[in-house]
Amino acid sequence: MNKSGLFIAGTWQEGGEALEVRNKFSDALLAQVGMATKEDVARAVGDAAAFAPVLADTPLHRRSGWLRKTSELLLTHKEDLARTIAGEAGKALKYSLLEVDRAASTFDLAADEARRIHGETVPLDAVASGEGYFGFWVRRPLGVVAAITPFNFPLNLVAHKIAPALAAGNPIVLKPAEQTPLTAIKLFEILLEAGVPDRAIQLVQGLGEVAGEALVSDPRVAKISFTGSRAVGDRITRAAGIKKVTLELGNASPVIIAPDADLDYVAKRCAVGAFYNSGQVCVSVQRIYADRKVSEEFNARFVDAAEALKVGDPLKPDTDVGPMIEPSACARVGAWVDEARNAGARVLTGGKREGNVYYPTVLAGVKPEMKVMAQEVFGPVAGVQTCDSFAEALAAANATDYGLQAAVFTQDIDRVLRAVKSLDFGGVIVNDFPGFRADHMPYGGNKQSGLGREGLRFAIEDMTNIQMVVIKQR
Ligand code: NAD
Repeated sequence: MNKSGLFIAGTWQEGGEALEVRNKFSDALLAQVGMATKEDVARAVGDAAAFAPVLADTPLHRRSGWLRKTSELLLTHKEDLARTIAGEAGKALKYSLLEVDRAASTFDLAADEARRIHGETVPLDAVASGEGYFGFWVRRPLGVVAAITPFNFPLNLVAHKIAPALAAGNPIVLKPAEQTPLTAIKLFEILLEAGVPDRAIQLVQGLGEVAGEALVSDPRVAKISFTGSRAVGDRITRAAGIKKVTLELGNASPVIIAPDADLDYVAKRCAVGAFYNSGQVCVSVQRIYADRKVSEEFNARFVDAAEALKVGDPLKPDTDVGPMIEPSACARVGAWVDEARNAGARVLTGGKREGNVYYPTVLAGVKPEMKVMAQEVFGPVAGVQTCDSFAEALAAANATDYGLQAAVFTQDIDRVLRAVKSLDFGGVIVNDFPGFRADHMPYGGNKQSGLGREGLRFAIEDMTNIQMVVIKQR
């Protein structure tokens, strides 16, 4: 099957050299999608820039209407979209279905938020030099948004860029991950069916070093919205020049288990949070700091919960954990687990591979310097480190360059407040895993986990310029 994967200046186009899209479990060829050249990217950005004034003048209620309709259509096409995600991303069908629900809710929330875009008056006469002046500020669209997205949520993370861009009145050029181009193509078909003007959305497929770099370095782009790895985020900020940049990068998510936590509940939630989507989630449970009084018992329950997960073909409805995105990712995770094992960690379950599937893996006796604790694993591996006090656990959780989301399990309000104050993370989740996200909450990282926040209101704010208006009374 060949698919025209580029959507430029209102028409579907075939593009150049083909990208092979494979089922990540069976390796069957799903489609071939032509990649964009640098010239294709330049045409897409040029056409989006030419259309920007038209979109900026389109009334809010119309922009909101497209977003609402997109939300409805996503639900109409739910099964097909979920099967596409399960095939090309390897995400278990049950979680692919949830991703479609979340994307529908992202567009629905954006439709609401679009209607609330407004400014404020400024009492200019609060200073003597402002006497006789009337002032207010408004939010104006800023122009072309360039969006670059990762493979692990090929629908909802694209939704988190397109929905706020259209709400704010900006045209968008999207370069989705090269592993997952088909979901983006289907979303574009839905956006067009929902009435989004064809020049407001442009799609360029291909590799980061070609299409991605051409996009971020184009001077006609006003803002880059990137979700992906820290290394690529770093490269993008260097190539960007003077542009607004939002970066949603990685994490090595910590979980703190206090001695008063309900261990059965914690173990079950940690098993979901560590292993769904094979741990390929930026806020996947990775570094667990368990109080010494409960760590042995927690480990036993965590292993039971991990072993209860069904591993295999993501298209089967009862599968919990599917394959990783590519064999090299599986091999890297295996090497990191071996490194930890050779340095004294105990593999309580997992630590093995079958095809492209890496089994849910629990490590005990880990040390901070092991790769599985010091870097982002981005795979189905969680390490449990024993701590002698809550203060020690907080310090260990903070001992990272990352700062996206952290979780604490405790019933003790004093511990909750101490955790909230001391954890240097963009989000602190109490009594659930660090992957909790509602799509309208502010979401983003401190330190090396990124710049800025997503979540509709926050993304829209960042996709607008504040324009001040001063009127002198004469
Ligand atoms: P990646 O950084 O390898 O790729 C992400 C995107 O960047 C892809 O579309 C890729 O083609 C593009 N790209 C690569 N090189 C580029 C370049 N030089 N210029 C421009 N674009 C380029 O990430 P991935 O493997 O797809 O995803 C995994 C990473 O994403 C993990 O680190 C994960 O934590 C992070 N992530 C973060 C969030 C978040 O919200 N903070 C969400 C999901 C994933």
